[in-house]
Amino acid sequence: MDPKEIVKLVESEKINFIDLKVVDIWGRWRHVTLARTNFSEKTFHEGVGFDASNLGYANVTNSDMILIPDPETFFIEEYDNEKVLSIICDVYDAQTKLPCPYDPRTILKSTLKLIDNVADKVFMGPEYEFHILEDVKYNVSTNEISLYVDSSEGFWNAGKSGEYFIGKKRGYHRIPPFDTLMEIRNKIVEKLLEYGIPVKYHHHEVGSCQVEIELNFVDALKAADYTLLVKHVARNIAHKLGYIVTFMPKPLYDEAGNGMHVHQFLVKNGKNIFDGNEVYNLSKTALNYIAGLLKHANSVMAFSNPSTNSYRRLVPGFEAPTNAVFALANRTAAIRIPAYVKDPAKRRIEFRTIDATCNPYLAFSAMILAGIDGIKKNLDPTVEGFGPFEGDAYNQTIMPLAANLEEACKALLDDNSYLTTFPEELLTHWANAKIKEARSINSIPHPAEFEYYFDA
Ligand code: GLN
Ligand code: MG
Ligand code: MG
Ligand code: MG
Repeated sequence: MDPKEIVKLVESEKINFIDLKVVDIWGRWRHVTLARTNFSEKTFHEGVGFDASNLGYANVTNSDMILIPDPETFFIEEYDNEKVLSIICDVYDAQTKLPCPYDPRTILKSTLKLIDNVADKVFMGPEYEFHILEDVKYNVSTNEISLYVDSSEGFWNAGKSGEYFIGKKRGYHRIPPFDTLMEIRNKIVEKLLEYGIPVKYHHHEVGSCQVEIELNFVDALKAADYTLLVKHVARNIAHKLGYIVTFMPKPLYDEAGNGMHVHQFLVKNGKNIFDGNEVYNLSKTALNYIAGLLKHANSVMAFSNPSTNSYRRLVPGFEAPTNAVFALANRTAAIRIPAYVKDPAKRRIEFRTIDATCNPYLAFSAMILAGIDGIKKNLDPTVEGFGPFEGDAYNQTIMPLAANLEEACKALLDDNSYLTTFPEELLTHWANAKIKEARSINSIPHPAEFEYYFDA
């Protein structure tokens, strides 16, 4: 819809508020809610001035910024019977009137322009895993968090007491009444479909109270926008029904973690250029892309796995990857090549390392630029030692992925020349802030340390 039609829609639907949504550096949406009287076609050209100091990059730039709504992205929300028109915005510098180079959405747009000579489009199919909990309690004085789960019987249960339950790690694709979260997922997905998000399917995941929603392929910018929208809708629908959602990579000890696998392929002149006659029906271009992504994997992980909790997920035993290898139908490898793809138009690789604590604009940019670097340098994943891998990577020590956030951030500081659309200051700001965060978290005595060392 063009701006004129959106303004008409606001009038005809008697919408009082226009919500301008913008991503901060860490990947959370922030918003300012514009009164209808201040909204017109001009808003799409002149934008709305705001204090960007909450976006997390104000210390690397000035903080007077302008929000320019992207008319392609609007959707209508309802808060207590009040309709609100939400639009995703790009950030512009108030002084130069140019796109702000630190704005993550602007960075992804530049990344997608930069690939022009290699491909016209990047397609992505993200998968969202998350937990739906009945309650979360945080005790400030003892610093204790309790999720509402009953582990006394050896199971976690998100349902009300007296309901059916699913045993630990036994939830994959289970059906009601054991799957107590079917109705919540239906409601979340109904809303996503209403917003035009092409959901493929949803299901219960391996962990009890763990679920998944998968999307069909969309271009990378939409995939990033939809990532924030899916998280927003999941949280808000669950909240209305009295539940709490978390995308934390490893919220529960000894249970499956939450990944955000991203299937991806490149298209040139309308053709999927990952399809070919090399190993696993991939093209040479796809193999180059794989080699680039795996070669830069630890540096990419500073963006794709940017929390200390991310690394509690990447351990053997839970179908999360531990090694920078590629393999067919293998869930222990960083890159899986799905074995069931018959359609050449859907030939793809699945990057399994990434999780939803990422800023999708930055993480997708890093993934794409790493892959493109592999294509430009004609890297061969076999020569580099990345596979094709066969067997169980959990028993191997080959090509281990970064073990923790600090290691990934140090890799980013050492290996970032491929990140050509990221301003230098953003890279160092990101790495140093995340190293500080990791050290701060690691300085907190861990409950398990009392078990291991109290009597030492
Ligand atoms: N939960 C797993 C992960 O952390 C994936 C499990 C699956 O999708 N089969 O990546
Ligand atoms: Mg899946
Ligand atoms: Mg899954
Ligand atoms: Mg998957």
